[in-house]
Parts: sequence; C-alpha cells; structure tokens
Amino acid sequence: MSSIDIETLIVGGGIAGLACAAHLKAHGRSVRLVERNDHLGGVIRTLDEGGYRIETGPNSLFLRPEDPILDYITSTGLDREIVHAGQFGKRRFILKGGKPLPLPMSVSEGILTSVLSVKGKLRVLKEAFVPPHEPNDSHDPGEETVEEFVVRRFGPEFLDWIIDPFVKGVYASDPEILSMESAFPRLVAMEDRYGSILKGALAMQFGPKPSTSPLARTIFSFRRGMGSLPGAFASLLGADAGTNAEVIGLTLTPQGFRTALLFEEETYYLHSRHVVLAGSAIHSRELLQDICPEAVGPMTEIPYAPVAVVSMGFSKKNVGHPLDGFGILVPSREKRKILGILFSSSLFPARAPEGQVLLTAFAGGMSHPKLAFAFDEDLIEIVEREVEAILGTKGKPDFLRIQRWEGAIPQYTLGHKSRIEKITQALPEGLFLAGSYLSGVSVSQTFTSGIEAARKILASPSES
Ligand SMILES: Cc1cc2nc3c(=O)[nH]c(=O)nc-3n(C[C@H](O)[C@H](O)[C@H](O)COP(=O)(O)OP(=O)(O)OC[C@H]3O[C@@H](n4cnc5c(N)ncnc54)[C@H](O)[C@@H]3O)c2cc1C
Repeated sequence: MSSIDIETLIVGGGIAGLACAAHLKAHGRSVRLVERNDHLGGVIRTLDEGGYRIETGPNSLFLRPEDPILDYITSTGLDREIVHAGQFGKRRFILKGGKPLPLPMSVSEGILTSVLSVKGKLRVLKEAFVPPHEPNDSHDPGEETVEEFVVRRFGPEFLDWIIDPFVKGVYASDPEILSMESAFPRLVAMEDRYGSILKGALAMQFGPKPSTSPLARTIFSFRRGMGSLPGAFASLLGADAGTNAEVIGLTLTPQGFRTALLFEEETYYLHSRHVVLAGSAIHSRELLQDICPEAVGPMTEIPYAPVAVVSMGFSKKNVGHPLDGFGILVPSREKRKILGILFSSSLFPARAPEGQVLLTAFAGGMSHPKLAFAFDEDLIEIVEREVEAILGTKGKPDFLRIQRWEGAIPQYTLGHKSRIEKITQALPEGLFLAGSYLSGVSVSQTFTSGIEAARKILASPSES
C-alpha cells in the first residue's frame, strides 16, 4: 500500500470537516484536512474591528442533549470560554404593523400576546383536535410543505406571524418551499407519535427527563466569539489541517482516490483510501462530476439561499429601542426586505465599545436573493432605512461591515430526503459527505454530519 499517503483526506475546513477530522484523529486514524480559504471554520468566523466583535456567520449555539458537539466543547476546554445569552436570549420580537412585539414564550404570554388575534389563538388551541395528516397526491406521497403542515394544524395566522418569520430566521427561506419532513422532522415525528404537536409538547413537558448537560437547551457563544470553535479544532489538528489549498480534482484508483490539490499555484497529488467532501453541495458536486455523475443531478437540485450580513455600530443614545432581547424577526406580511436584526451586543458581553451597540441585520434569502448581491451603497441604503423604521435608529451607523454569503443556507425543499438518498447511494466506496445540506443546517447538526462521516470510516474495514 505504498501509494497511500494518508488514510482519509477531508475537503473543506468548515465545522463539518473539522468535526470529521478531529473524530478520526481522536481514534488514531491518519487524516489530512484541506481548506481553500486562509482560515478554518468556513462561515464561522469572528472578527475584531473598530472595537466591535463581529460574527460573519453564526452568532450563537443552541444544543440538544444528544449533540456530539457537547463532548468536544468540554474536552477542548472551550466550556471555560462560554458566555450565556441569559434572560435576553429568551426574549425575541416579531415585527407586526411596523412595531416590535414580544414573541410569546409561555402559555400566559400566548394568551395575552397581540401577535395573534383571539381567533388566531383559538385556532392554535384547536390543533390538539386536528386529526393527523392523510397523504395527498399533489407531491411525493405524504410530503407537505411547511406552509401546508402549519396551516393544517395551527391555521394561517400562526403561519404568517410565528412560523414564517422563524423560517426566515433559521433558513433564510419561505414556508411554501420547504419540506416539513426535512426541515422540521421532530415536529412531524411528534404528530406521528402523539397525533398533535400541542399534546406532544405537553407530554414531553411533564414526562420523564433524561439527565442532561447544563449547556443543552441554552443559547451561548464564547468569550472571544464563535470563531473560538474552529480555533479549538485548529489547535487539535495542528499540521493535519492546512489552509490556502484547494482540491481541484478527484479520481478513483485501485486503492482509493487520487486528489489534485492547488497550493501556491502548483498542483500536488495526494493518494488516500477515503475522501470526505465537507464543502457545500455547490462545491462538492464539482468534484463528483467525473467519479460519480449520478450524484451531481440531485445535488444541483438543492438550492442555496444567499445572505448578506450587515453589522452596524450605533451610539446607544441613537437607538430608539431598548434592545432588550435576542433580536427581531420580520414576517413576510410586513413587506420589508430584511430578514431580521440581531441585538448582538445585548446578547453577549464585549461585542461593542462602551456606550455603543452592535446590531446585525440579515438581508437576501430566498425572498429577496438579489439584495444579497446588490451594490454596497444600495444594500446599505435599504438596510439602514429599514433598521431606522423598525428600531428608531438616528443617523448613519458609526461602524458598518458587510459580509456576503452566496450559498449561505441550503434549502430543504420538497423531495430533499429522496435527493439525499439518491446522492448517498451513488457514492463510490470510500467516499463520504458531510455538511449542512445533509441532516440539518445548524452548527451542531452540521458538526454531527462530520461525526457521522467519521463513524462510517471507523466502521469500514481497516486495511492498514
Ligand atoms: C449568515 C449565517 C448565519 C448563521 N447563523 C447560525 C446560528 O446562529 N446558529 C447556528 O447553529 N447556525 C447558524 N448558521 C448555519 C451554520 O453556521 C452553517 O450551516 C454551518 O456552519 C456550515 O458548516 P459547513 O462545514 O457545512 O460549511 P462551510 O462553513 O461552508 O464550510 C465549508 C468549507 O469547505 C471549503 N471548501 C469547499 N470546497 C473546497 C475545495 N474544493 N477545496 C478546499 N476547500 C473547500 C470552503 O472554503 C468552506 O470553508 C448560519 C449560517 C450563516 C451563513
């Protein structure tokens, strides 16, 4: 086996690739991770600029007790760096009639809220008596859009004022295009098990609770920002992870794979038994063209929402809202162009200089994709105008930074599940995928996809 340089080559140093590499290394396997950018972490990156601590991608983590990332946070010592969002993390606003209204987070708040009308609230309560879904013929048997599911179970008001803005916040998307089963599998499973989401939520509230990490179900980041997460993995991997190197070709060999790597304008070749493609579906499908063309079609059918992240610093006195929460979500019915605004400096300490606040606005998504690519001056004009109207900001921000992501969030549209099945079935032996288009878009779900790829490699027969 002299022609094998490394057992597993991992393409892409986002959180999926880092998780995969770290897991394999922890199990004594030889790995090499290559990232084409000059930094690891993919969209996860924290920048300190002008006295502000800015996140270019995710701002926080929310984990479930079963998420494997929990163990890594502890074992890398990152748990000592954690900062919690505290009470503000639980308070979100919804824009309605141009005004930020608190999103109801409890039964009593739900009764009192003006986000929904009395009729809308009664329709939500009726959910407990709505029979479970009967498959229809309009799409794949049994597959519903998020819109269809929510209207059927909770009514149109709940869709418009609660779910639509939530879908914008998580997927930068619209409920009419996402598959309920792929985007929110837990809710579909709750309907299957309990016959109703409300009944399921009650059963889980009062049922036995497994022992759980204190970090689970809290919103947190790290003292130096989300960039600490890939930073910890970079330290773990050391020289096994390299940046500024782009994988430009992949061919099959009798022992596994030959990978062409572009580094400082020279092409190098690496032979490995396994390859993990941990880039987006857009990037990974380019590498599959020759060795696995059957996977390319379904990968091309996965749309990505583009997003522009606009970080803005204001003097506290120039903001008309107390910013006493996580942020504000913007329903489609409000006919605004931005997706939402995070109150970044309210959430975590040391995100803005004394007397200043940091706001992060998101623009683009599936409803206004062109806005994510608009000229800076046009984007800034629209974002500033909408932030002013929503939060009563006065004047221009003292600080401004734009980050654009062409393929920010993969869209789990109707047929997503069968697309992923087709892709994975088509892969040649030894080739694995990881990334946010597989089994959830959050940082922790994407991390898990990397761990899953590593587990498959660990389970495959070792020939060394
Ligand atoms: C603006 C934004 C805000 C978000 N907010 C949150 C949040 O608050 N909480 C949350 O949980 N999630 C959030 N998410 C989602 C989450 O951050 C992402 O889904 C996740 O980090 C994606 O990780 P990844 O490893 O799959 O991909 P990426 O981070 O895209 O990494 C893939 C890497 O592969 C590299 N690559 C691709 N092709 C090649 C090649 N041929 N050769 C070498 N390298 C290659 C790329 O350069 C890239 O660095 C957010 C996402 C965005 C964009």
